[in-house]
Amino acid sequence: MKQNPQMAKIQENMQPGTLSAEGFLGEDRRSLSDILLADSQIVQKNGQTHQSIADQMRRLTEAGKPELGRPLRLGQFEVTVEDHRGRLPCPFRDRYGAEKRITTAKHLATGQTLTWTDLHIHMIEAHGFYEGLGSKFRLDPERLIEFFFSG
Ligand SMILES: [Zn+2]
Repeated sequence: MKQNPQMAKIQENMQPGTLSAEGFLGEDRRSLSDILLADSQIVQKNGQTHQSIADQMRRLTEAGKPELGRPLRLGQFEVTVEDHRGRLPCPFRDRYGAEKRITTAKHLATGQTLTWTDLHIHMIEAHGFYEGLGSKFRLDPERLIEFFFSG
C-alpha cells in the first residue's frame, strides 16, 4: 500500500538509531501502513480491539507498580514491574513520552511470559502498533490475545 508522507516520516523515525538503538521494525520490509493494517486485521479476526488489549496490559502494569521489582500475584498472572530512569519517545510524532517502565507478566497456567514497556501500551492503544516482524520488542497481537483472553 502506498502511504502518505506523514506515515513515511514516522517510519523513518522507527529506523534503528533514531529514537531507539534497535528501532521498531526489525526485519520488516513492509510499509508502516501495511504493518498496521495486517495487525488490525488479526486483532479484529480474534474479536478484540487495540483498546481491549491495551486495557489488560495497563491493568497489570498499574497493579504491579507499587511493588517495584517484587513479583505480585494477580489472578492467573504473576507480574513484576521495574522502573528505569528516562523516557521513551513515541515514534508517531505526537510528542508523547512514556516513562521507562518494564512489565513482565507470567501466565501461571501456561508458564508463558510476556514483557512490555509503557510505550508499548501507548503505541497499541493510540496507534494500533505492535512493532515490525523480527523486532526484538514486537508483541505479536495473536500471542497477546491468547495470553489475556483464553481461559
Ligand atoms: Zn504516540
